[in-house]
Amino acid sequence: MPQLPSLSADDLRSYHAQIRQRYDAFAKRGVKLNLTRGKPSSAQLDLCNQLLSLPGNGDFMAGNIDCRNYGELAGLPELRSLLATVFGVTADRVIVGENASLSLMHDSVAFSMLKGNCDSERPWSKESRIAFLCPVPGYDRHFSICQEFGIEMIAVPLNEGGPDMDVVEKLVAGDAQIKGIWCVPKYSNPTGTVYSNETIERLAKMKTAARDFRLFWDNAYAVHHLTAERIEIANIDEACARNGNPNRAFIFGSTSKVTFAGAGVGVFASSKGNVSWYLKRIEKRTIGGDKVNQLRHLRLLKNADGVATLMDKHRAIMAPKFDKVLETFGEHLGSTGVASWTKPKGGYFITLDVMDGCAKQVVKLAKEAGVELTPAGATHPLGNDPHDRTIRIAPSFPDLAEVAQAAEGVVLSVLLAATEKLLAKG
Ligand code: PMP
Repeated sequence: MPQLPSLSADDLRSYHAQIRQRYDAFAKRGVKLNLTRGKPSSAQLDLCNQLLSLPGNGDFMAGNIDCRNYGELAGLPELRSLLATVFGVTADRVIVGENASLSLMHDSVAFSMLKGNCDSERPWSKESRIAFLCPVPGYDRHFSICQEFGIEMIAVPLNEGGPDMDVVEKLVAGDAQIKGIWCVPKYSNPTGTVYSNETIERLAKMKTAARDFRLFWDNAYAVHHLTAERIEIANIDEACARNGNPNRAFIFGSTSKVTFAGAGVGVFASSKGNVSWYLKRIEKRTIGGDKVNQLRHLRLLKNADGVATLMDKHRAIMAPKFDKVLETFGEHLGSTGVASWTKPKGGYFITLDVMDGCAKQVVKLAKEAGVELTPAGATHPLGNDPHDRTIRIAPSFPDLAEVAQAAEGVVLSVLLAATEKLLAKG
């Protein structure tokens, strides 16, 4: 495999011709593969098919709570206890929300805009300007929430152990209009980054000019390991409290990628003050959540061990797909000098960085060859990747054979785009 940037013009031209031929042959196969979104595969969903018949005929009592009736705004206590162990907050500070977590994140922002949070002097919408820090690459749906509410997004680099804390500390200390930061602390979307204990401590401790600043702590992949090493990160709730900032973290999570995506349960966990603030808001919009769904989750998962055992089964399905992509990238892009990629130990994504100015072209070429990828730029606020370099790869949904083919299509698209760019540069 040649180092493409150091090839002579003649060698580059003949390499390009070879790649073009291989790419055309691939495109002729007429595959139709989709690596766009982090959806669980059918085989993963099958792991929880029991849910379809739970809680089962005649089972509707959770202790003395009749799940068929109104009530329990914060969710079933037993399920709150179970999820408390996953999200590192005491059960009385866990709210089991609707079917997934994105709506809880959206509502936390919407409520803050309309009412302010429990430390705000006024609703955020009454401020002249509101800004959030967005570690990049990041999750497009976080950015969409900001866009929806006219919140300015300030990109900050995501490094090996989390956001660049020198940059973050300086920004939040100097600008009282910065009210939040999006954090996916474990197996981040899309890089797989795991925040270091030092980063977590600094986020908990840093001085913020805004008293009502919040960490939007989206722990979507808390138990979604891809290796035998079940990585644990420092407890953000505990760190915030210890540093005198007990209200700083809004913690979110869900069972979307544990049980059924879209028919799971979402979690909001936080300080006493934040939880009562949140409950005050939702008590106006609902008399109580879907406790029948909560009960069937309780019956299926049972306890933290039940969750861990189930996640091992997910891993057995997911890990070979990630391995296949990484193996294909390593084999075909390894020493070409035109791509680098992350090797996540959990979560749902791999980040592929290609030569500057090539990401859009790679996505286009892949699509023309039958492999659909997340649009280039989606990993950055407003879809604007200033280097046009970063591509999110989501290998979870197709089966292993399809993933292998898709990875081949991606590799050929990367090599074709890179050689064309190098040839154009002369
Ligand atoms: N947060 C992150 C970081 C995600 O990657 C996803 C799913 N792609 C979500 C939240 C969505 O989670 P939910 O299904 O709980 O809304």
